[in-house]
Amino acid sequence: MKDRKLLMIPGPIEFTPEVLRATGMPTTSHIAPNFIEVFAEALERMREVFLCPKGQPFVFAGSGTLAMDIAAANLTEPGNEALVVNTGYFSDRMGDILERYGATVTHVRAPTVGDAPSLDEVEAALKEGGYKVMAFTHVDTSTAVVVDAKGLSALGQEYGVLTVLDGVCSVAGEEMRQQEWGIDVAFTASQKAIGVPPGLALVVAGPRAVDAFHERKAPVGNYYADWTNWLPIMEAYGERRPSYFGTPAVNLIWALSVSLGQILDEGMEARFARHQRLNQAFKAAIAALRLSQVPVRSEVAATTLTAPYYPDDVDRSLLGHIKEAGVIVAGGLHAEIRDRYFRVGHMGAVSESDILATVGAIEQGLAQVGHGFEPGAGLAAAQEILTA
Ligand code: PMP
Repeated sequence: MKDRKLLMIPGPIEFTPEVLRATGMPTTSHIAPNFIEVFAEALERMREVFLCPKGQPFVFAGSGTLAMDIAAANLTEPGNEALVVNTGYFSDRMGDILERYGATVTHVRAPTVGDAPSLDEVEAALKEGGYKVMAFTHVDTSTAVVVDAKGLSALGQEYGVLTVLDGVCSVAGEEMRQQEWGIDVAFTASQKAIGVPPGLALVVAGPRAVDAFHERKAPVGNYYADWTNWLPIMEAYGERRPSYFGTPAVNLIWALSVSLGQILDEGMEARFARHQRLNQAFKAAIAALRLSQVPVRSEVAATTLTAPYYPDDVDRSLLGHIKEAGVIVAGGLHAEIRDRYFRVGHMGAVSESDILATVGAIEQGLAQVGHGFEPGAGLAAAQEILTA
């Protein structure tokens, strides 16, 4: 019997065989002509995946938190005011990072866990004036809450505030149109919907963000993150010239180019539609199994992951039973509700059969813990959408 488990957590996700093979290529020099070509191709593909033809892409060796660090370090100077649209754990982290670089941070918090602040509340804060940067978590991985990135970006443009989108749990899965929506910096990490093993921080800066960086008075408070060091490197790779500041993650960049190629072969519109369809099927299954979810309304529920509450009197032992049935899902993360819910990622190369296998494993787990439901109800609800 196969002992492989299906990994359905919100990152790292399962990667395609082609991407995994690329990570095992014989490592070249970082200035080998064939690597320079691949790096240039990856940068071009990032512009297409972020839907930001005029953006400057950056690829760093590091995780998503480094991408957060880079956005905050390069856009803020001591004494700047920053607004954080706060939907959970990763918004709190962004606030901490902005403060670390000397910004004074104001949070507009969701009224309750599982909700997002309204555009009116955000606008009221922006009206107070003085903000240089507004940061928001597109999909908060701790709550599965999505914010209205388009509406927030429009407010940022209207009030002359730089917008920063944490797209770690969204880019290449959730609909995100960086240039059209006017998002000044968007970033993600390789291990989620981008579909590459952990280790790359990916950032795309729009023209307003690059201009704001050039107008800085104070040096960037982080040596590694400083765009002064990296902008010439990314420009050089983009123009297919050798250059060096810090050794790039050669094999991961090879894999990145392969994965971005696969994403673009599918096409961004088709990719958004597939994520929406699989998400609908999975969420319908969760509802049919009589589990409620952390997001309080469907408008604030993400498409890249789902956060169901455990049934009454059930704890995280459910996750062990789901694993025994072959699927690995994640426990809770938000401090206020950590022991009351679990999280299932469905992004990247995820397929219909992955969704059905996951629903089936959850049904088996629920049966083990004595939850009252009709066996097969979740699968039937998912199939109704998948066969429509
Ligand atoms: N932001 C969001 C929305 C995330 O989901 C994560 C990781 N789960 C991060 C930032 C941090 O990324 P990393 O764990 O790769 O540092």
